Amino acid sequence: MDKPVQTRATRPQHGGAGLTRRGFMQAATGVAAAAALGGMFGCAPKTIGQDQASKKASKTVTCDVLVVGGGGAGVTAAAKAAEAGANTVLIEKMSWLAGSSSLALGTLYGAGTKLQQAAGIDDNWEGLYAYFLTRGGDKLDDDMQRFCAQHFGETIDWLYEDMGVAFKPTPAKKGSDTVPRGHSLDPNANVLLQTMYGYAKDEGVTFNFEMAAESLIVEDGAVKGVLAHHDAETYVEYRAKKTIIASGGFCRNKDMIAEYMPDYDGVYTEVGVGCTGEGLQMGLDIGADYIGHGGTNGILACAVSAGQSKLISTKAMWVDPDGKRFNKEDGQTHDIYYQVAHFKGQHFYAVYDQAMVDALDDSLKQSFQLGMDRGLFTKGDTVKEAAERLGLDGDAVSAQLDQYNEMAEAGTDTQFNKGQANLKPITQAPFYVLTMGICTHGSFGGYHVNTDFQVLDKAGKPIENLYAAGEVCCGSFIYDDYPAGGCGLNFSYTSGRFAGTNAANAARA
Ligand SMILES: Cc1cc2nc3c(=O)[nH]c(=O)nc-3n(C[C@H](O)[C@H](O)[C@H](O)COP(=O)(O)OP(=O)(O)OC[C@H]3O[C@@H](n4cnc5c(N)ncnc54)[C@H](O)[C@@H]3O)c2cc1C
Repeated sequence: MDKPVQTRATRPQHGGAGLTRRGFMQAATGVAAAAALGGMFGCAPKTIGQDQASKKASKTVTCDVLVVGGGGAGVTAAAKAAEAGANTVLIEKMSWLAGSSSLALGTLYGAGTKLQQAAGIDDNWEGLYAYFLTRGGDKLDDDMQRFCAQHFGETIDWLYEDMGVAFKPTPAKKGSDTVPRGHSLDPNANVLLQTMYGYAKDEGVTFNFEMAAESLIVEDGAVKGVLAHHDAETYVEYRAKKTIIASGGFCRNKDMIAEYMPDYDGVYTEVGVGCTGEGLQMGLDIGADYIGHGGTNGILACAVSAGQSKLISTKAMWVDPDGKRFNKEDGQTHDIYYQVAHFKGQHFYAVYDQAMVDALDDSLKQSFQLGMDRGLFTKGDTVKEAAERLGLDGDAVSAQLDQYNEMAEAGTDTQFNKGQANLKPITQAPFYVLTMGICTHGSFGGYHVNTDFQVLDKAGKPIENLYAAGEVCCGSFIYDDYPAGGCGLNFSYTSGRFAGTNAANAARA
C-alpha cells in the first residue's frame, strides 16, 4: 500500500514508537482502570517467551482461540470462533463488558439491507464503496474499503434476522452520504452487546473477567498467547493457537493521544473506562505496524451534562470564537466536530433568546441554570452585551445575528442552507450566549490488518497467529475523519465476525 501523506497530525503516525509501561500507568485514567492495570507496576518485559511467562504465572490456561477484550468486536469474535468449533476463551480486564460498545448510542452503517428494502430504499454495496472512497478510503488499502462496503449490510441483516436484535424501522442519512444507511438499534447498542454475550455463552465461550492482558508470548517468531494478570500477584499464562486482540481504542491514554492524535490532546472523552491502549501497545512491542492518520470519532458536547447535551439546539445560532457562523446548525455533528476541534480553545458558542429559554423543559432549565452559575453561559439585554461577557467580539456576534434574522425572516439560509424548520428569528431580549465544546468517542488508529484480520508487521507480512478486530485496528478502514455515524460499531461487529471465524478455522486446520 502507498503510505498516504500526513494530514492533520503534526507528528509521525506510522510505525509508532513504543511507550514505556510507566507511561501507560500515568496515562490510564479512572480509578477502575488504574486498579485493573495495577499489576503493570511490575514492569514486565515487552516480549515474553515461555520461560519468563511460566516464571510469573501461577496458572496456565490453554485454548484454541484467545480473545482479548469484551467489547462488541471481542464478544462477536469469541462467539463466531466457538460457533466454528474452537475451544475459545475471552479475557476482559474489567469486571463487566466495559468498552465503548456498552455505551454507544447504537447506529450501524450499511448498505443493501433487508431493513432498507422494507423501507423502500434502493441501495447496494457498490454505492457504499464509492461513498467510502470520497471520505478518505481512497488513501487506504482498497480491499478493506470493498470488504467493509460488502459486509456491513450483511452484518446488519445477520443481527436483525438471525440474532433477533431489534432495530428501528427506518434507516437515516448520516455523514455527507445521500442514501439513508444509518440503522439505529432499539433502544441502544448495549442491547446488541448483551445479545452477543448471551450467544457467545451459549456457544461455550469461557469468559474470564478482571484479567488484563499484559504482553504477548512469542516463540520462534510466532504468537503463542498472552501473559495476563488479575492483580499484582496473580498472573495467568494463556496459551492459544490463535490470539485475537479486540481491546478497543486509546482515548483514555494521554501519551498515546499525544503520539498518535495530537490535534485532540486535552479533549474530554466518553469512551469506555477500559480504553487505555495497552492491548495495542503489546502488539507494537513485537513489531506490528501502526496505521492511523490522527483522526478521532467525536461529537459536540456541553459541560453542563454528559453526552450530546440537548442544549446544543439546532434552533440556536452557532458562532466560532470570532463571532461568525461556521456551518449550518442542523448539519452532521460528526462533521462539525472536526471544525470545532480546530477552533481556539475547541469551543463554539450558541446564541439563545428568552423565548428559547422559556421553551426548555424543567430538566433542561436546570442544566441551563448550571451553565449560568458556572459562568459558561452569559446574559445581556443585547446579544453584544452577552457575547462580551464571555470575552467574544460583541459587534461581530451582533452583526452575525442581524444577518441570521434577516435570512430567517426571508425563509432561506443563504449562508449555509440550514433547514427551514430550524431557521427561526432570535429576537426576544434578553439574549444568552452559551459555551459549547467537543468530546471524543473513539480513536482512528491501531493495528494494520488485512481483510482476514491478521495483524501485519512493518513489511506487510502477517504476524503468525495474531489477529485483531474492532477499534484497535480501525485505522485500516477509517482514514482521518469519520465517514458516517454507525461505521465504528459496524466495523467492530463485522471485523469480530470474520476474525473469530478465520482464527477458529486456522486453529483447527
Ligand atoms: C458514548 C459513545 C457512543 C457511540 N455511539 C456510536 C454509534 O452510535 N455508532 C457507532 O458506529 N459507533 C459509536 N461509538 C463508537 C463505538 O462504540 C466503538 O467504536 C466500538 O464500540 C468499539 O468496539 P470494540 O469492541 O472495538 O471496543 P470496546 O467496546 O471499547 O471494547 C474493548 C474492551 O477491551 C477491554 N480491554 C482493553 N484492554 C484490555 C486488556 N489489556 N486486557 C483485557 N481486556 C482489555 C476493555 O475493557 C473493553 O471492554 C460510540 C462511542 C461512544 C463512547
